[in-house]
Amino acid sequence: MIPGARLVLLGRQGAGKGTQCTRLSRHYVVPHISTGDILRAAVREGTEFGKKAKEMMDAGDLLPDDVIVGIIDERLDRDDTRARGFILDGFPRTTTQAEELMRITDPRGIDVALNLEVSREVVLRRLAGRRVCVDCGTNYSLEQPPKYRDTCDVCGGDVIHREDDTEGAINRRLDLYERETVPLMNWFDGRGLLASVDGMGDPDVVTARLVEAIDGLRGR
Ligand code: ADP
Repeated sequence: MIPGARLVLLGRQGAGKGTQCTRLSRHYVVPHISTGDILRAAVREGTEFGKKAKEMMDAGDLLPDDVIVGIIDERLDRDDTRARGFILDGFPRTTTQAEELMRITDPRGIDVALNLEVSREVVLRRLAGRRVCVDCGTNYSLEQPPKYRDTCDVCGGDVIHREDDTEGAINRRLDLYERETVPLMNWFDGRGLLASVDGMGDPDVVTARLVEAIDGLRGR
């Protein structure tokens, strides 16, 4: 294993990006940077920015590109990411954001953008029952709840039903994904940076597929 990595994980809401990013972050020893988690932390702090972000997130809308790019620019400038790299989860989501990512990371760029493939029908089913820890982001479901009611097995945080995991907001996010994020795959593909991985099946098997794809591309 080559330590450090510069990765982008793409995939529909509910494809398992959060779960797989946590695992890849341990495997390659790089920080997992989730724009959704950063925004939800701002919402919990109740800042003016957090209040505005909450309205857009609850509606299932995307935040303006310049706002999100500013957040990522600041985060990628810290020592840990400079030294070891990063796994980006939820960014970029538009072609403009991808162009900005390349500008920010120039000249090193990224190793690979991974497309975690799971169909819309499957993710719709998963999202309806999704529960998530507000502190560490561990995912649960109605079928696989935490051991003690609403307390996270991993960190003891509160396990909640996200306010944007309603049928309306989920469908809106999935539509936006098709419109804004799918063209992004072609954008990465055109630059020889895309690898698609089947996201169905046991999470351990999916992790193994991702590691194989990443190491294959990085070993070139
Ligand atoms: P999901 O993948 O289920 O939509 P996330 O946790 O990644 O959830 O993001 C939650 C919300 O945060 C999004 O619906 C959007 O409002 C906002 N958001 C996150 N990342 C971005 C981004 N890169 N650009 C614009 N908005 C974003």
